[in-house]
Amino acid sequence: MDQATHAWIATRAVGLLESDDKTKVLAKVLRPHIPSAAYGAWLPDLTAAKPGSGLTQNHIFKMLPYKGSGEDRFKLPFAGLQKRLGSKRAVLGFLSKHGDRLGEGWWEKAYKASPPPGKHLANRIMSLHTSLVDRLLLADDLLAKALGIEAELGHPLGKEARTQSEELALHLFMLSHFVADTCMPCHCDGRDLHDYAKGLHKELEKHWSDQVGSFFKKSEEGPLPKKPAACLSEAKAVDETLGLKFPSEIPPCKSGDVWEEAVVLCRASFAVAGVMAPPADYPYGGKATGKPVWSSLQANPDLLAEIDRCVLQDAVLNVAMFWKSVFTKVQKS
Ligand SMILES: [Zn+2]
Repeated sequence: MDQATHAWIATRAVGLLESDDKTKVLAKVLRPHIPSAAYGAWLPDLTAAKPGSGLTQNHIFKMLPYKGSGEDRFKLPFAGLQKRLGSKRAVLGFLSKHGDRLGEGWWEKAYKASPPPGKHLANRIMSLHTSLVDRLLLADDLLAKALGIEAELGHPLGKEARTQSEELALHLFMLSHFVADTCMPCHCDGRDLHDYAKGLHKELEKHWSDQVGSFFKKSEEGPLPKKPAACLSEAKAVDETLGLKFPSEIPPCKSGDVWEEAVVLCRASFAVAGVMAPPADYPYGGKATGKPVWSSLQANPDLLAEIDRCVLQDAVLNVAMFWKSVFTKVQKS
């Protein structure tokens, strides 16, 4: 996903927080900072944010078939995926409808990702999620009051050491980037055809960016020169373009563990990658016999539109779910 798409996802997710009674106060705190989403949600892909790392493959969870010890641990049949993701994710409806493109026995096999150290997408999500909970426990009085939380750990500290709303917003927008990337099939499939330089990844990014529109595009780093209300209404207008339908209440993360939730989301995206490029024509570890995947998708616009819907709708919903998960951890029950 490119800068504009990440900015749209984060902005639209603030809209979801607003429509849920339990997260309205968090939305109110984030709202003035929405123009900064154009920077914060894109920050993890900036070259300067990847010290000591390659320009691409910086946060991935690319799976391939696995044979070896503990194979059963890496199997997740479709019924298990449904159970782990609940009923609200669009990807499950998509896979129910198109899962036959994966071929006989696909769901019964083991698949494993081996991301290089420091580049594990679920680790990036968990680390930011955990540190955000810590930062909220250290919120300054203004932020704690706005969110209706206690933040008692911050009391002995000076104002400079405590978390303010700008910092919270920036880091939640950064978290949105990693969560959105779990929904990007090319980040979750180890076949060469999903490499950034191989065409499909770039074509999909451009295609999604075109649908989101130019409003969220930035030529320079920094916030959008637009008002929060305008950003939100532009973001909501994309729902109609893509046929998106969001629940009014943001469901809780299913697993109770954000690392596991992220891994399972990547597994679903790996299956979507298999629907896009069926393993019979584009084997794992073999020579592809199908034509370039992007041209075959263009020749099947209905399937492409369904991929757009399930990837982008789930990206927004998952971001809102992970944000809600951060917030819920510091709320007194
Ligand atoms: Zn990224």
